[in-house]
Amino acid sequence: MSAGIYLHIPFCKSRCSYCDFATDVLRSNDAVERYVDAICSEIRNSKFEIRNSTDSIYFGGGTPSLLNPAQVKKILNSVFSEFSVATNSEITMEMNPATVTPESLAAYRALGVNRASFGVQTFDDHALKLLARGHDANDARATFQMLREAGFDNVSFDLIAGLPGQTLDAWEQNLDEAIAMSPEHLSLYLLEIHEGTPLAEQLRSNRQPTPDPELAAEMYEIMLDRLAVAGYEQYEISNFSKRGRESRHNSKYWTLDPVFGFGVSAHSFDGRERYANERDTAKYVELIEQQTSAETNRESIDIASEYVFLGLRLEEGIDRSQYTERFGEDLIGKYQSEIERLLDSDLIEINNNRIKLTRKGKLFSQRGFCRVCLVDRVIPIFGARSDRRVWF
Ligand code: SF4
Repeated sequence: MSAGIYLHIPFCKSRCSYCDFATDVLRSNDAVERYVDAICSEIRNSKFEIRNSTDSIYFGGGTPSLLNPAQVKKILNSVFSEFSVATNSEITMEMNPATVTPESLAAYRALGVNRASFGVQTFDDHALKLLARGHDANDARATFQMLREAGFDNVSFDLIAGLPGQTLDAWEQNLDEAIAMSPEHLSLYLLEIHEGTPLAEQLRSNRQPTPDPELAAEMYEIMLDRLAVAGYEQYEISNFSKRGRESRHNSKYWTLDPVFGFGVSAHSFDGRERYANERDTAKYVELIEQQTSAETNRESIDIASEYVFLGLRLEEGIDRSQYTERFGEDLIGKYQSEIERLLDSDLIEINNNRIKLTRKGKLFSQRGFCRVCLVDRVIPIFGARSDRRVWF
C-alpha cells in the first residue's frame, strides 16, 4: 500500500469571503522562505514509519502556486531525500487563477509536477467578487490556457454550487463552460458556510440572500446528468473524472491508505491514528525552528467505522467481502436493522455484494457536508463520526 505525501502551503494573495482554511495573506517572500525552510525541516525530522513506496505528492493550500520554482524544488528535494518516491508518482499542485506565468508553469513541470488542481469556483464575475476571490473569470480562462500550453494534460477544476443568489441557469452555464474546456477532472462542491467568515456575517445581516438548499439539490442533480452525458465518471460524491484520471492522492483518503502531512495544519493518517499540526503559521514555524514537534492533536480511530463512512462516499461503495476480510465480521450482519431501514428509504442499494449510496443517498450526503443534513442521520448509524471534512 503506497502512502501519500501532503504538503500544506498556507499563503494566499487575499482571503476569500467563505474560507476557513488555515491560510495567511502573503506579505513577504522572507516569510515564505522561512516557512519553506520549516516544512523541509519537518520532513527531514519526521519519524514516520512507512518511508518506502510513496506514489503521490500533493501541494495543497492556501495557494501553492505562489511558491516560486526554487521553493517548490527545495520542498520536493526534501521529500525525495526522505521517502522512496515511485517514478510514476502523481505530483499535484493546487493553483489559483492569476498566480502563475508560462515560465513558472514550465518550471513546475520540469520539477515533476504533473497534475494541476485549479481553483476556478465559478465563471461568474459577480459571484467571484462576492466570494472575494481576487481574480475574474477571464483570469481563470487565461490560466487554463497557460496550463495547457505548458503541457499540463491532467488538470482538475474546482467549482462551487449553491452560491448566494445563484440561479439554475447560472449554474448550468458554469457547467457548460467547464465541460467545454474539457479538464480531465472536476471537483464540485456545495457552498459551505463557516461561522466567523465574512460570508457568514453577510448572510446573517441579510446583505446576501441565503442559499436555498432545495435549489442546491437541484444543481447537484443537474450536475450528475450533465457530467455523465459529457463522459465524466463520478467516482466519489464530489469528484468526477475522465476514465483513468481519478485523483490518486485524494482516493487515498477515501480508502484509508496512509497519508503523511507536513506544514501548518496538515493532517496525517498512518493506518492506525490521525494527527494534526498546529493551525497557526507563525506558531508552526516557531515550533519547527525550536526542533519541537508541531503536532497538536492525535487520536486513534475506529478504523472499521471510518472505512464505512468513507467507503460510502465512493461510487463503487463498500465491498462486503473485503470488509469481512479486513475486519473479521460481516458488515450486513453487524448493521442489519439500520441497513434495512436505509434500503427501505432508498438511500443505499446492495448489488453484487457491494453496498453503495443511491442517487438520493448521494444527494443527502452531499448536502449533509454543508448543512449537517442527512449525513448526520445516515452515517452515524454505522458508528462513524460526521463532523470531519473528508475532502482536501
Ligand atoms: S484561495 Fe482558497 S485557500 Fe486561499 S483564501 Fe481563497 S478559498 Fe481560502
